[in-house]
Amino acid sequence: MKRAASCSCGQLSITADGEPVKISACHCRACQRRTGSAFGVAVFFHADQMETAGVSTSYVRWGDSGKSVEFSFCPACGSTVFWIPEFRKELVAVALGCFADPSSLIPHPSSLAPTQSVYEESRLEGVSFDLT
Ligand SMILES: [Zn+2]
Ligand SMILES: [Zn+2]
Repeated sequence: MKRAASCSCGQLSITADGEPVKISACHCRACQRRTGSAFGVAVFFHADQMETAGVSTSYVRWGDSGKSVEFSFCPACGSTVFWIPEFRKELVAVALGCFADPSSLIPHPSSLAPTQSVYEESRLEGVSFDLT
């Protein structure tokens, strides 16, 4: 199954062919700042499943592990669409909310649960998941 994700204005997109490896909710302060939301949700695919289109600007952030993550965002509207973690270079993470149909990625349609939830120490009160 092919699924397309794009930025707010639509010029930057990425298409994933096949099923995701994992879906990860991240409560770290950097994801909170990047998204402006309570947490970020990354849908990880193998890099060879992906095809990008459009112009992107990248921002490299160094994580607590000392490894970098390279974020690709739209220079026109600012949406971060996808990112590549140095610690697992064979994977590409795509922002859940950028998909045309985010609900098609949820393994169990009865819940919006990600498969993992990380940086729980900065998780805001009131945010909780039943992990799938
Ligand atoms: Zn855009
Ligand atoms: Zn994070």
